[in-house]
Amino acid sequence: MFDTNIQYAVLGLARSGISAAYKIRQLGGTAFLSDAKPREQIPEASKLEADFECEFGAHSDRLLDFPVWIISPGIPLTAPIIQKGLSAGIEIISEIEFGYRIMHDGAKIVAVTGSNGKSTTVSLIQHCLEAMGYKSILAGNIGDALCSYQIEKAGIDYVVLEVSSFQLDTVKSFKADVAVLLNITPDHLDRYKDFNDYAQSKMRIFLNQAADDDAVLCADSGPILQRIGQIKARQHRYSLISAYPDVDAWMDNDFIQIGLRHRCSINDLIIKGPHNHANFMAAMLVIQALGLELEAAIEAAKSFPALPHRLEYVATVADVSFYNDSKATNTDSVKSALISFGKPIRVIMGGSDKGEDFGVLTDMLRQWAIKVYICGDTEAKMRKAWQGKLPLECFQDFGACVQAAFNESTPGDVVLLSPAAASFDRFENYQQRGNVFKEIVQSLTSNHEKK
Ligand code: ADP
Repeated sequence: MFDTNIQYAVLGLARSGISAAYKIRQLGGTAFLSDAKPREQIPEASKLEADFECEFGAHSDRLLDFPVWIISPGIPLTAPIIQKGLSAGIEIISEIEFGYRIMHDGAKIVAVTGSNGKSTTVSLIQHCLEAMGYKSILAGNIGDALCSYQIEKAGIDYVVLEVSSFQLDTVKSFKADVAVLLNITPDHLDRYKDFNDYAQSKMRIFLNQAADDDAVLCADSGPILQRIGQIKARQHRYSLISAYPDVDAWMDNDFIQIGLRHRCSINDLIIKGPHNHANFMAAMLVIQALGLELEAAIEAAKSFPALPHRLEYVATVADVSFYNDSKATNTDSVKSALISFGKPIRVIMGGSDKGEDFGVLTDMLRQWAIKVYICGDTEAKMRKAWQGKLPLECFQDFGACVQAAFNESTPGDVVLLSPAAASFDRFENYQQRGNVFKEIVQSLTSNHEKK
């Protein structure tokens, strides 16, 4: 229920902040908008100024007049303004928490987090629910913000949410009917004190769940198992290694088994690789926990395509296949890519640093990489980790890097962009990096055809 007496401030005017502000306005409340970026860098500044009281360029003490702040996931809790707000007793929440507080109670919530696989898994769940005829929305860290939907009204059966650790840091009462934790591997160590701090943030997805809620988790993850005592909900476990009766979904040769009665051949799925089989298990256990028809969901899952920028097949030029895995911005996602081809490949890596130790990839690269082509700000750190241990070469220019991988390929080779780093050193985001890669491959295709 929305309380018009509460005065909100919204800090950080990106997608989620703007949608929360308009939701408050739509429900008859008022919000004060604040962004540290200068006015000219706020795309919709004039419109926002017409609709709200705003400040740009800095966060002022005026904010302290507002008892609840909805903050963007881009603002770290360590930021001086957040510390100031916390000391002043301000309640600081995420847009997900705000959305939860106003949401109509007819909708069931599925929330998915993890270091890798969130987007793929939520999209697969959404794909199945829609195919099964339910009114389901997909929101959070993917697509549109939660508050951009009519969540306060009846009529939505399921809300499927992708939730990042930054959004979880500021949940208070948020509770999912089914909460999913896919894995916890090093990521965002530039924003957390240490790995434990990051792992604890992920565990917050289960924070408010009770015994009659459902938790879906990967039993292969050491960091999850170590913290399993924190989960109060009914557990549904899956594994690529263990089998029944230890887990509820498991591998049986080329089949994925969901309980004893349901199975799906991996050859019937479009999504490939063991990590995607794990994502499939998580999605099917969600469907089962919701009490829905599993066979219908398995049938629907068979037509689910890989998302762009996640091990996405691009093209084959002169019998060399190119794959775009630009979304692989941490080492664990690169590991899952490396074992997905069943043979050594050429890997393009590098970007902006997220604080990870690249040494954790050395053994797998020695086994699965013919050569690593490095381009980006992580060059020195990657070179230090791998020089003398595996074939590598560094490039200043991304196009030259892709071209070199192609020039050195022999027929049958695979060239994979799987950076193990963020994209912000040279690109706007991972999508732009992936699109540039695809354009370069496209130009290789046309040049090759001209010959
Ligand atoms: P997220 O939304 O958590 O970033 P995505 O589904 O967008 O996850 O995938 C991000 C990267 O991680 C891609 O490179 C993808 O191939 C890889 N990936 C997907 N699922 C998993 C998984 N379960 N374990 C490890 N890596 C994965």
